[in-house]
Amino acid sequence: MDLTYSDADQAFRTEIRTWLEDHLASADWAGLKGLGGPGKDHEAVEERLAWNQHLAAHGWTCVGWPVEHGGRGLSLWQQVVFHEECARAHAPHGVNHLGEALLGPTLMAYGTAEQQARFLPPIREVTELWAQGYSEPDAGSDLANVQTRARLDDGGAEVGGEWVLDGQKVWTSNAHFSQWMFVVARTEPGSQRHRGLSFLLVPIDQPGVEVRPIEQLTGGSEFNEVFLTGARTGADLVVGEPGQGWAVAMALLGFERGVSTLAQTVDYARELDTVVARARANGSYDDLVLRDRLATLKVELSVIRAQGLRGLSSAEPGADSVFKLVWAGWHRRLGEAAMEVAGHDGLLTRSADGSAYDLDDHQRLFLFSRADTIYGGSDEVQKNILAERVLGLPREPRP
Ligand SMILES: Cc1cc2nc3c(=O)[nH]c(=O)nc-3n(C[C@H](O)[C@H](O)[C@H](O)COP(=O)(O)OP(=O)(O)OC[C@H]3O[C@@H](n4cnc5c(N)ncnc54)[C@H](O)[C@@H]3O)c2cc1C
Repeated sequence: MDLTYSDADQAFRTEIRTWLEDHLASADWAGLKGLGGPGKDHEAVEERLAWNQHLAAHGWTCVGWPVEHGGRGLSLWQQVVFHEECARAHAPHGVNHLGEALLGPTLMAYGTAEQQARFLPPIREVTELWAQGYSEPDAGSDLANVQTRARLDDGGAEVGGEWVLDGQKVWTSNAHFSQWMFVVARTEPGSQRHRGLSFLLVPIDQPGVEVRPIEQLTGGSEFNEVFLTGARTGADLVVGEPGQGWAVAMALLGFERGVSTLAQTVDYARELDTVVARARANGSYDDLVLRDRLATLKVELSVIRAQGLRGLSSAEPGADSVFKLVWAGWHRRLGEAAMEVAGHDGLLTRSADGSAYDLDDHQRLFLFSRADTIYGGSDEVQKNILAERVLGLPREPRP
């Protein structure tokens, strides 16, 4: 396994680094540095959208997509370089990760030519944003328990018609500023578990869709409840065959290869630096136990990065689950260490007038990193995968 970057990759690094430095230095964008991302996705959405469209205008969105679909066709390592350089430059975080990294590749693999022509260009140009309608109140880790229903209403016509959806989704990130949502729904009445599900593309801005933001511990609202009450979408907006949506839904999750998460370790290193700087400034660095914890976090981050690279460069079974477990647990421990360092200041959560949350970056890190071990497959789910698929332990009882 050769983990060194080739000369071509290094040349590409110089190209994107220079471009980002030039453009982020401009008065239009300089103020957006570091905005958005996990725990902060509610920040400056309009401005980040404009930045993303600026990237698109210069061909810097969907860089891993094949050229025939309008991408740059970058190799895996060049995609890593791209995301690392964005993180290094403290570029504002993207607003359409779900469309670009997950739905786009799914449409390329399973969508019709018409679906690809209709939906890929606006994802690339960042003119249509997407939300993921998988989770429900009783279907999270156990996604096969989806209860949202969809039926085909052909209106008496021989062709055409519409899907009509009823049900509830929850924890739907970004639905409040997205135009579209991909939805896993049960289209075969009486079907059980992963059978009889379909993968539908549903416009959000319509009377049958109600989006209710959920306020998080951090005070922001990145995710939502989404109520579908007679929501409609075109009969042709099913991806793959009706009733075969489970395979499409799982394939979509498989497209998350961790390229951007690996680059996130650049952000993590910066966060750790700010915690260390606070420890120096307030004297808590003198606490030997705390020093030990901070040094351990530094060492662990190097190991996590190596594990991420390993996951990308090999098809080792379980590598993705190991990576998810180690980075999510690390980030939580960083949040906890940040609160130790902050001391009493970490307890102050009200603005001067007592009215609202007014968190500093370390408090937000501490609170939001509790979610890291839940989304994208919880710790327990990752351990079940490792136990059953890698260690060959007996399968846990299924409902
Ligand atoms: C920040 C954030 C953003 C999210 N964004 C989206 C989104 O955009 N779209 C979307 O569809 N969903 C989204 N989710 C939802 C996320 O996918 C679910 O929270 C996750 O799948 C867990 O499901 P749940 O919350 O229903 O918990 P449950 O599945 O009810 O789990 C509760 C607890 O039981 C444990 N558990 C469950 N099953 C087992 C088992 N078999 N063995 C051992 N332990 C088990 C879990 O690990 C957890 O600790 C988001 C979640 C978060 C936190």
